[in-house]
Amino acid sequence: MKERSAMERTRDFNEVPLGYTPEEAIEEAKRCIQCQNPLCVKGCPVEVQIPAFIKLLAEGKFAEAAQKIKETNGLPAVCGRVCPQEEQCELKCILGVKGEPVAIGTLERFVADWERENVRLQPSPPVPLSHRARGRIAVVGSGPAGLTCAGDLARLGYQVTIFESLHVTGGVLAYGIPEFRLPKKIVELEVEYIKSLGVEVKTDMLVGNVYTIEELLLEYKAVFVGSGAGLPKFMGIPGENLEGVYSANEYLFRVNMMKGWQFPEQLTPVKIGKRVAVVGGGNVAMDSARVSLRLGAEEVCILYRRTEEEMPARIEEIKRAVEEGIVFNILTLPVAYHANKEGWVAEAECLQMELGAPDASGRRRPVEIPNSNFKLPVDTVIVAIGNSPNPLIPLRTPSLRTEKWGGVIVTPECLSSIPGVYAGGDIVRGAATVISAMGDGKVAAKAIHQRLSSQQV
Ligand code: FAD
Ligand code: SF4
Repeated sequence: MKERSAMERTRDFNEVPLGYTPEEAIEEAKRCIQCQNPLCVKGCPVEVQIPAFIKLLAEGKFAEAAQKIKETNGLPAVCGRVCPQEEQCELKCILGVKGEPVAIGTLERFVADWERENVRLQPSPPVPLSHRARGRIAVVGSGPAGLTCAGDLARLGYQVTIFESLHVTGGVLAYGIPEFRLPKKIVELEVEYIKSLGVEVKTDMLVGNVYTIEELLLEYKAVFVGSGAGLPKFMGIPGENLEGVYSANEYLFRVNMMKGWQFPEQLTPVKIGKRVAVVGGGNVAMDSARVSLRLGAEEVCILYRRTEEEMPARIEEIKRAVEEGIVFNILTLPVAYHANKEGWVAEAECLQMELGAPDASGRRRPVEIPNSNFKLPVDTVIVAIGNSPNPLIPLRTPSLRTEKWGGVIVTPECLSSIPGVYAGGDIVRGAATVISAMGDGKVAAKAIHQRLSSQQV
């Protein structure tokens, strides 16, 4: 897939990859050998019928290919852009054994974009439900977990209401992932599609404050909690509360929600200096670094305590960050931040690390090199070392069992410790991926339907 040059794209917030042309998409689709036992489908948490949609695409039947994807995935233009296909469907593709796997993600993106720009498919009417199963379902959170659960239940004929605390829908898709990776118009239109299935969305509704889960259970037959992991982690080192030290969450939220890059046309600026250091090695760190460059920073570096090989960010996002000129200070651990006279961060004090034996995650453990302290001049620091589950709902729902680290405990069917209350996505897994959240939403929708259609309810 072609993309804009690093020089051109760092001057604006427009999308980086350009997508396939119809001819390129058909050519790539023809590489699929239509396996009898398609391993790619097993690698997809929402079980998109990959060979079937690729066959239709190869025949030039773009609308039919879109229909096929939408049978199982209500957010294809999102997934085609941000899913780590290299670890999922494409990793399993048989062609990858000896060469390049089929570019399933890029094909999904092409089909979804073509459909949005050309036909806008209308959903088919839901299957009529039995009298016993009919009922209203509440979904908390409009991120990928909540949207998928809501969409699947609406397709089955339930009346579903999503309660979203923010004024916008989409969760991290809207407030976290930057415009140049996931245009917000696309998120809005995919949410519109879910709404067109019959899902009602109530924004500005902070569950836990406006209603408790117990109160929702009085009115709804089941509740799905997909409230995500929006609580930023900090390292607890000296100077982390200085002016100029942001959590990546706050930083990206300000940029995405308040359109800080369009100041003064938009009212809220995002203050950053010339030298920005981003702590972390995941997608959130890459996004924060690349946003900083686009906001005008002159030197942007990543501080990461392991090496590039262990970074959890998607390989293509690491590659793009490097192309754009972001400096990777690997084997580097910040231990303190120091202020200038005005109280703003001015230096990041770091330790040099080396790799030791593998830890529980299988990655080699970073080990401090004694007395290796050095100082980096910085004007802004963005801490992107992970997020914990949002704590409000567990706090206000004493009978909801959680792990020590805050994740809601669920069965493989996504059922929590409270009968009728299901949970999935980042509130269960901790910060994970869009597609795993969607997969949980699907599992929960199926379990809710089974429960409500069974004789016991
Ligand atoms: P969320 O998307 O967090 O949605 C939860 C929703 O619940 C939010 O809208 C929130 O406002 C709402 N909510 C919270 N509490 C309440 C409450 N009490 N009442 C009502 N509503 C509530 N994943 C990938 O697969 N690929 C990527 O490239 C990628 N990049 C990322 C980049 C960034 C910057 C970030 C932050 C994450 C990224 N992720 C990526 C991770 C991915 O976005 C998340 O794993 C996914 O969004 C989780 O979905 P979710 O539905 O569980 O939660
Ligand atoms: Fe096509 Fe690869 Fe899936 Fe086989 S595994 S059906 S070649 S995409």
